[in-house]
Amino acid sequence: MSLNKGKDAKPHIGIFGRRNYGKSSLINTLANQDIAIVSDIPGTTTDPVKKSMEMANLGAVILVDTAGIDDDSPLGKERIKKSLLQISQIDLAILVIVNNVFDRIEEELIDLFAKQEIPYLIVQNKTDIFPINLEKSNALSARLQVPLIHFSCSKPENVKVLFEELNKLIPSSSLQFKSLLGDLIQKDELVLLVTPIDSEAPVGRMILPQVQLIRDVLDNHAVVVCVRETELEAFLTKVRPKPVLVITDSQAFELVDKIVPPEIPLSSFSIVLARQKGEFEHYLKGTPKLAELHDGDRILMLESCTHHVSCDDIGQVKIPKWLNQFSGKELIYEMASGLEGISRPIADYALVIQCGGCVITQKQIKNRLRPAIEAGVAVTNYGLAIAFMHGIFHRATAPFRSQKI
Ligand code: SF4
Repeated sequence: MSLNKGKDAKPHIGIFGRRNYGKSSLINTLANQDIAIVSDIPGTTTDPVKKSMEMANLGAVILVDTAGIDDDSPLGKERIKKSLLQISQIDLAILVIVNNVFDRIEEELIDLFAKQEIPYLIVQNKTDIFPINLEKSNALSARLQVPLIHFSCSKPENVKVLFEELNKLIPSSSLQFKSLLGDLIQKDELVLLVTPIDSEAPVGRMILPQVQLIRDVLDNHAVVVCVRETELEAFLTKVRPKPVLVITDSQAFELVDKIVPPEIPLSSFSIVLARQKGEFEHYLKGTPKLAELHDGDRILMLESCTHHVSCDDIGQVKIPKWLNQFSGKELIYEMASGLEGISRPIADYALVIQCGGCVITQKQIKNRLRPAIEAGVAVTNYGLAIAFMHGIFHRATAPFRSQKI
């Protein structure tokens, strides 16, 4: 399977540590510009600050500056909560320490990194003020089995070493995407995309999953054609040879399923994306839970960003409406968008439905779903849920299933 470098979902690098340890100065030094406000007053960074930048060898990344994790005030505790929430959204962490101070606060932080399988390195900062104690630094690095880099933002000579270490540590799943269709299509074959242009479609442009599919087919030296569902039947009657695969917007699945002959494989944009970077095997197992729901069951809708009106409508309106009709049960829906925490223990939910996650990395989706999977809560995603409720789950997943479920 060929690999494409993901440019839309950039790896997130979180910077953590106590107040006044120079985290904001570090992020400014790495980005080579003033992104985060720097001052000598502890607690200057209140909410996480994000900055997109190009990093040598890694390409585009997002640096996330967080509030200090040692603020005991009531407001500080809220800020710490927000900082720790970032851990589920990052791909790699930098733990900033000063003068070899490493006790309960740092230990708890690295436990959280370990729990979410977040690789990290340690930056021993402010070495211009606190003399380097090599013996202590080496002992810490050896005990934790992580790189420790001595650093000073006033003399950032080690910035190259830091970039090199980050480059070594970043998980490949954060940098590279498997080709969406590379194992299913051959050179010169035709892939047909069905893209409804309705009131929810943005004016004058295609949405990201459509653009990603077009690019992927072209990367595989195959041919891609886009039609609206209204022109689909006429197109299929005329075109020779037939498409080897049809991918449709999930919302038009029912209609498209009737038009596309059964011998032509058919799936949806969100199922293709779910396979690329969701928890696809868990989705396949979890989706049939839609048919086993009871009155009063709680459904958690997870959206990975907060700004897409179209997806809001799918998650907040359409899927609940379809699921109520499909199950005939009184269900309770709760929505968590972007970085929002979940308001109750994950085991309280009967099912978690994740969006396509087009703007985040595979690792971020995995981290978001991990608590549900570990608690044995069924998980699915928008595309698979819609396909299931419309009776086309098996057809829509057949091109990607290694075994019968
Ligand atoms: S990240 Fe999720 S909610 Fe946001 S646009 Fe993509 S699919 Fe929709």
